[in-house]
Amino acid sequence: MRLVPPLFSRLICIKNNSNRKTMILPILAYGDTILRKKTKSLSKDYPKLDVLLDNMFETMYAAKGIGLAAPQVGLPVRLFIVNATPFEDDEDLTEAEREFASTFVQVFINAKMVEETGDEWAFNEGCLSIPEIREDVFRKKNIKIEFYDEKFNKHVKEFNGIAARIIQHEYDHINGILFTDKLSILKKRLIKGKLENISRGKIEVEYRMRFPKTKKKH
Ligand SMILES: [Zn+2]
Repeated sequence: MRLVPPLFSRLICIKNNSNRKTMILPILAYGDTILRKKTKSLSKDYPKLDVLLDNMFETMYAAKGIGLAAPQVGLPVRLFIVNATPFEDDEDLTEAEREFASTFVQVFINAKMVEETGDEWAFNEGCLSIPEIREDVFRKKNIKIEFYDEKFNKHVKEFNGIAARIIQHEYDHINGILFTDKLSILKKRLIKGKLENISRGKIEVEYRMRFPKTKKKH
């Protein structure tokens, strides 16, 4: 998931503590079949998970993302990461939400949505795989989700507001769903040409991407 640039002015990059060399991975663009693939659960012995996570965080930060799912970097597995820290300055949020967001950086492995409750609310979403398109998406306000962290400790946690929103967007990715799927038929029709251009790489983007309908790499 991606934010509008101004909110990133004070983004604190939480770097990994190791000296491992990280790599910025290309983000798959809309139209890539991997974004629609059925994903597999991760086992504890998933090879080089620590390296993959370092690379995913590096990739997300480089693209000014607030969330990134493994299918977006070409891996159809049930893994996503979230970084809500840019919201610590968002005046549209409540004090409590800002406070929570300021430290909310989390790895979600084998996540399972337990429940989504409350009223639906609109938020203008974007996606690193779908640059330059932002649309209001309606989702429920509160979630309860079960997941494992990077050390394979199990958690069952409740989130609401913006934190829930980012998780819902990323959780959709591991189920092959993109935010544009949730738009009205009319909106979908209006953005069809733009989506086609994204798939063909006919777009200016300032981070590394791979486009399914062209050989072009950014
Ligand atoms: Zn996304």
